[in-house]
Amino acid sequence: MQRRKFLQSSTALISAFPLFHFNQFDIFNNLFLTDDEIVTIKVGTTTCTIFRDLMFKYLAMDFFINANQAELEQSINKYKIKPDNIPSTFIAVLLQQGDKKILIDTGIGFLEEPMIFRGEAYVFKGRVQQLLLQQNIKKEDITDVIITHFHPDHIGGLYNGANGLNYPNAKFHLHENEWAYWHSTLSDGQPALFKHFVETNITILKNLNLHLYKGDFTELLPGITAVTTEGHTRGQIAVIIHSEKEYLLYISDAILHPLHIEQLDWQTNYDWDHQKAKLSRIKLLELAYKENMLVNAFHFNFPGLGKIDKLENKWSWNYNYK
Ligand SMILES: [Zn+2]
Repeated sequence: MQRRKFLQSSTALISAFPLFHFNQFDIFNNLFLTDDEIVTIKVGTTTCTIFRDLMFKYLAMDFFINANQAELEQSINKYKIKPDNIPSTFIAVLLQQGDKKILIDTGIGFLEEPMIFRGEAYVFKGRVQQLLLQQNIKKEDITDVIITHFHPDHIGGLYNGANGLNYPNAKFHLHENEWAYWHSTLSDGQPALFKHFVETNITILKNLNLHLYKGDFTELLPGITAVTTEGHTRGQIAVIIHSEKEYLLYISDAILHPLHIEQLDWQTNYDWDHQKAKLSRIKLLELAYKENMLVNAFHFNFPGLGKIDKLENKWSWNYNYK
């Protein structure tokens, strides 16, 4: 019903962040087969550029916490991954449409000083800023920033320490549900590091050009629509990009790994509410499948593009989208 409403009203067409085992990740290793850091595609007349911010690795025990062991072993063999090394990217996406330059998520940011988390020091050196410059895009050129949820790997690139805000001319589009959650006692149980990232990157937007919006299937800009996907966080959204007859569905962290498409009941340590997360996954799978949308997932193998297949009521991920 909501989908139909969206299609009628539309004017046009990946967080997991490790809560645990931080010290077991090598942030700077390169686990990928490709050296690509920038991938550009066209969705109708909109140019979409996907930037690889960082490489990370997760653990099966965190990604698939309730998986049947035999099934898990079989599955991770199929994906050629190891239980202690599930490669994952962080990304950001730039949409260029007329005179608009719209950034979806910002990467983790770039820290000069190590950050201490549970006794371990981490220095994050996200690449989004440099990669934008490589494309001749200055931070002042960004007209809009859409944040899908407030985990560090999505918001860390908003603020640049002593240099202040990274995108001084942008309008910032945030869903009210996510804002309300992180600015209330409901988020008191979240790790101090997460709260710190929200304070330094999000709360400071309060008196700036902030667009706090409500509802589901909310059109933020012509052809760019926010879809609520509660579960990973309280107010996470996915983004539909629609131009002419083409669609891109940016699912952010609603689905963290292709195995969560095949195994809808497998839960992760990184979701705020497992049942809601499952319902949101189904909502996105159905939407993408019915409209044959190209899908972009934040934490899948870079650039995280693919399509959703369904065979005898079993969902699957298809990287061969071209
Ligand atoms: Zn994430």
